[in-house]
Amino acid sequence: MDDLKRQLVAAGFRGELDDSDDAREFYSHDASLFEVRPQLVVMPKDNKDVQTLVSFVAKQKKDNPWLSLTARSAGTDMSGGAINEGIIADFTKHFTKIENVTATVGHAQPGVYFRDFDAETLKHNVLMPTYPASRDLCTIGGMVNNNSGGEKSLEYGKTEDFVRELKVIFADGNEYTVKPLNRLELVKKMAQRDFEGRLYKQVFDLCEKHYDHIKAAKPNVTKNSMGYNLWDVWDRETGEFNLQKLIVGSQGTLGMTTDIKFKLVPRRAHSGLLVLFLRDIDALGEVIPKVLEAHPATFESFDDATLLLSIKFMPYFLKMLGPRKFIKLVLSLIPDAWQLVRGIPKMILMVEFNGATEDEVRGKIKALHRELKKYRARYEINGFEEDPTEGRAEKFWIMRRHSFNLLRKKVKDKHTAPFIDDLVVNPPYLTEFLPKIRRLIKKYKLFATIQGHIGDGNFHIIPLMQIEDPKERAKLLPAMKEVDELVLSYHGSLSGEHNDGLVRGPWLEQQFGKEVLGYFREVKHIFDPENIFNPHKKSDAEWDYSFNHIRKSF
Ligand SMILES: Cc1cc2nc3c(=O)[nH]c(=O)nc-3n(C[C@H](O)[C@H](O)[C@H](O)COP(=O)(O)OP(=O)(O)OC[C@H]3O[C@@H](n4cnc5c(N)ncnc54)[C@H](O)[C@@H]3O)c2cc1C
Repeated sequence: MDDLKRQLVAAGFRGELDDSDDAREFYSHDASLFEVRPQLVVMPKDNKDVQTLVSFVAKQKKDNPWLSLTARSAGTDMSGGAINEGIIADFTKHFTKIENVTATVGHAQPGVYFRDFDAETLKHNVLMPTYPASRDLCTIGGMVNNNSGGEKSLEYGKTEDFVRELKVIFADGNEYTVKPLNRLELVKKMAQRDFEGRLYKQVFDLCEKHYDHIKAAKPNVTKNSMGYNLWDVWDRETGEFNLQKLIVGSQGTLGMTTDIKFKLVPRRAHSGLLVLFLRDIDALGEVIPKVLEAHPATFESFDDATLLLSIKFMPYFLKMLGPRKFIKLVLSLIPDAWQLVRGIPKMILMVEFNGATEDEVRGKIKALHRELKKYRARYEINGFEEDPTEGRAEKFWIMRRHSFNLLRKKVKDKHTAPFIDDLVVNPPYLTEFLPKIRRLIKKYKLFATIQGHIGDGNFHIIPLMQIEDPKERAKLLPAMKEVDELVLSYHGSLSGEHNDGLVRGPWLEQQFGKEVLGYFREVKHIFDPENIFNPHKKSDAEWDYSFNHIRKSF
């Protein structure tokens, strides 16, 4: 690989280059069940460096078809989106500048960790609300490219709803500003006789030619991260053409994001949580519509397996929170211990309300509490979320947010195998769907925790498996087939927020059909004709390739 490094330096690349075994081993994993070893890891210094990198790979591709370029930020992707052969470009070393934050806009580079961005927006009492459960681990570049969502998505939507403007380096090696255009701006753009002009024209033609079919392909769920968001690009009624909709959630398969502007919203002054302990899943039929009618800010859930895991690994929280906060956490659990003595609930539901005053929040919570009292409801009113680990309700958030990380780190003989980790089925179907999915989990003998954004019908099912054992690996395909068929029979989506990567890319045809997959392939070809960006993902994925790259060692 010395050659590759030498050639990159000769081409003008100024960042770090690392092809040591340690680096290639480290970057061969993200939070998925796959491993793919790159040839080289690089840390671009600035936008110009990324341009050099893209132009270099594009030029070399004909002679070196194996060469590719995959962007990586914090590497917490659960679908295998952040790993590849070829070159991995890590944005967390140099793309770390928060440019500016005002009361309405946050402007930063993609390698900025969300926790740092959040701390900055807090100073202005505003928030980018679509952060994932990995909020302390991930970056904003990863959030944009996965179109991440989280606990506040029920009220605010997903990352796509908060991106105002992006800078992206496309396959021709130039950097472009991507933002919504009106009809006139679009016509002007399409008239350009260059790469950008052709790109706009070809995407417009595709959207226009199959307008109704593309619009109808949008999954009928509140959250979807599968495919390319082609249905939201062109609107004949408003005349808006928004290429950002394709970039957000594209997992770096269309270009490299170098700059992000987010819309921000005011933080709510007060919040409070109603917690329900359900002994019987059938109760969801009554509970879900009642909760949704009350328009909560968040509506989350986790199951008995998650609860038991959190109790078993309490010392982990001591390390994470420090002794003072840990003691507070344990003390705050005492009132809930009574609920557990009465029997372990099958599911714990968390319903959060926000408001301008404590009275407003209290009123909303008490009204729902009255209606749902028989479900062993208790409530906690938090103050302003200045330090989210201080509030009494935080113990439930800790269990909900940290359970996947607990599974990843703490269960020694088995490993997290996220392959049915992000299903979405509209809430009215859940009383039917959840028992069926639990039966499938049992059928395949998967020890799995289930947590979810129940208000969106979005569930994270994380089995623990010895995936290096061929017998366990052999379960993946049939289990995935049955689960996916079940989800699609309820008109759901196979991914609400974790995206396609290696794990779901091969199922795009099942989700959308042959023709729509064909449109996705056309999109990829328009943006990236030589297939230099993050191959084997999205419309370019094949199950045989993915299966051959399942982790064989830990
Ligand atoms: C414990 C845990 C909990 C999680 N919970 C959630 C959740 O609640 N909701 C959710 O949506 N996700 C969740 N995830 C998945 C993941 O954390 C998020 O999708 C996160 O936003 C990814 O950010 P990252 O910085 O780690 O990105 P990475 O993993 O580095 O990259 C993600 C994707 O974006 C691409 N990419 C990264 N940077 C760029 C760039 N500059 N230009 C172009 N492409 C780029 C990568 O190629 C990759 O395809 C969770 C993961 C873990 C480990």
